[in-house]
Amino acid sequence: SSTTVDEIKQRHESTASDVLTEDTYGHYIGGEWVDADNGETFSTVDPTTGSELAQAQAGTAADIDRAVAAAREAFEREFADTHPDERQRLLTDIAEIVEENHQRLATIEVLDNGKPIEEAMGDIALVADFFRYFAGAARTATGEQVPTGDLFDRDKHISTLHEPYGVVGQITPWNFPLLMATWKLAPALAAGNCTVLKPSEETPLSVLEFCKLADSTVPDGVINVVTGYGEEAGEPLTTHDDVDKLAFTGSTAVGKDIAHNAADSVTPTTLELGGKSPVIIHEDADLEQAVETCMMAIFFNTGECCAAGSRIFVHENIKDDFLEAFAGAAETLQMGDPLLEETDLGPKVSQEQAERTMEYIQLARDDDADVVVGGDTPDDDALAEGAFVEPTVIDNIDHDNDAVQEEIFGPVEEIFTWSEYDEMIEQANDVDYGLASGVITSNINKAYDTAEDLEAGVVWVNHYNDVSPGMPFGGYKQSGNGRENAMETIREYTQTKSISVNLGPR
Ligand code: NAD
Repeated sequence: SSTTVDEIKQRHESTASDVLTEDTYGHYIGGEWVDADNGETFSTVDPTTGSELAQAQAGTAADIDRAVAAAREAFEREFADTHPDERQRLLTDIAEIVEENHQRLATIEVLDNGKPIEEAMGDIALVADFFRYFAGAARTATGEQVPTGDLFDRDKHISTLHEPYGVVGQITPWNFPLLMATWKLAPALAAGNCTVLKPSEETPLSVLEFCKLADSTVPDGVINVVTGYGEEAGEPLTTHDDVDKLAFTGSTAVGKDIAHNAADSVTPTTLELGGKSPVIIHEDADLEQAVETCMMAIFFNTGECCAAGSRIFVHENIKDDFLEAFAGAAETLQMGDPLLEETDLGPKVSQEQAERTMEYIQLARDDDADVVVGGDTPDDDALAEGAFVEPTVIDNIDHDNDAVQEEIFGPVEEIFTWSEYDEMIEQANDVDYGLASGVITSNINKAYDTAEDLEAGVVWVNHYNDVSPGMPFGGYKQSGNGRENAMETIREYTQTKSISVNLGPR
């Protein structure tokens, strides 16, 4: 490439000074910007350059206590009694603020996460759309009348209320920093809860800048953000006595710890965890559509997607044609500075994550698998400081290999060839995960049949990785518990109260 490390560094430094408003960010508690109780901060790094972007507070249990108290106070002071139309207006106002700051928030995601600007622009468009969707949901999430028809209910009028829990604790990952926070904040607020959010230590900046923008619109204490590391700042949120509901998105390992913690107090917990999703290509698939869908399945967001379609099962009769076309497409992907529009693939979120991905590729090599495309860090001096990993396609790998069974969370696709449908489905389902899946076929009946056979919370047919606020999202098996998005998530953020009134003889 004609650019140099210095050019990229300069571009990132001057962009950071345009879009970031602080050198050191506070926690956002009760509408105030405050320092961590112990005065400690940590550095958040730009994975393209390796340079520090800013400092954020390294929160601990003491900060979580303050934030939970602020959320409780806001809930009791006003938010428990807000009418749905007030919450609708609040969420609509937030959506407008996001839209007005679309480019800036997207740019912050690029700097902090390394995702290409075009993808970050898409993230922020979705952030606004989710707030608008849940603004509407605030008005329509009503209770029901329940005519049970039971012998003892003949003269009773039974109805339900869906009441907010009160204070919810929310913990989010680094792959879609503001979007994952929005999947949690928007429905929680729509349902009438106040929240304490702990964003990932890798990427706290977009959520913090979002709070600065929303500060004059959101009543104090309705949204609180405590930054910091998982064990120090996240865990105390999951063990706190005064948190009524937990929602977590992240790895399965941490999700299990959180479920254990929540069990002690019987706190309801929504878990959105990892995945190792299959994409099934039938013999009748349109080749071009198959390639396009699989490119989206694994290389979107540098493969840092919980739903990434990272295991392709292609029918043997079209395998060679498919692999040639897919490998060719993967080779044309342009790695580079994610601030530039022509870039398809940015760095991974951190050097540590890049190393993890390389370790998985090594496991495949150790097993004599064929690395058809990529498999290395890029041979480009301009990218030397960044956490880059080449787009990689692996063929002929044993399905029991850890690199197949575990989530790589990088731009690494694994190819399997099938002829017997039932055997293929068995293998496609033979992982601990069950988050998402894809089916590529030109036969609608096959599409539905395969969709039913897959153990996954989401099945995309002839496309991949599209999400929308009205589509429930969540995992089977160890990919999670509960659903986000759509009205299902409003149910997750409310508890149902049945009111039974005796209208019979009094
Ligand atoms: P992670 O589990 O390491 O961290 C997620 C969050 O949990 C971070 O904020 C972290 O600080 C916090 N955390 C870590 N240890 C904790 C503890 N002991 N107690 C409380 N909080 C703790 O995950 P990550 O590396 O940030 O994100 C990648 C993972 O997230 C992948 O496994 C991916 O599949 C998953 N993910 C899932 C979905 C989904 O909807 N299912 C969406 C995006 C990401």
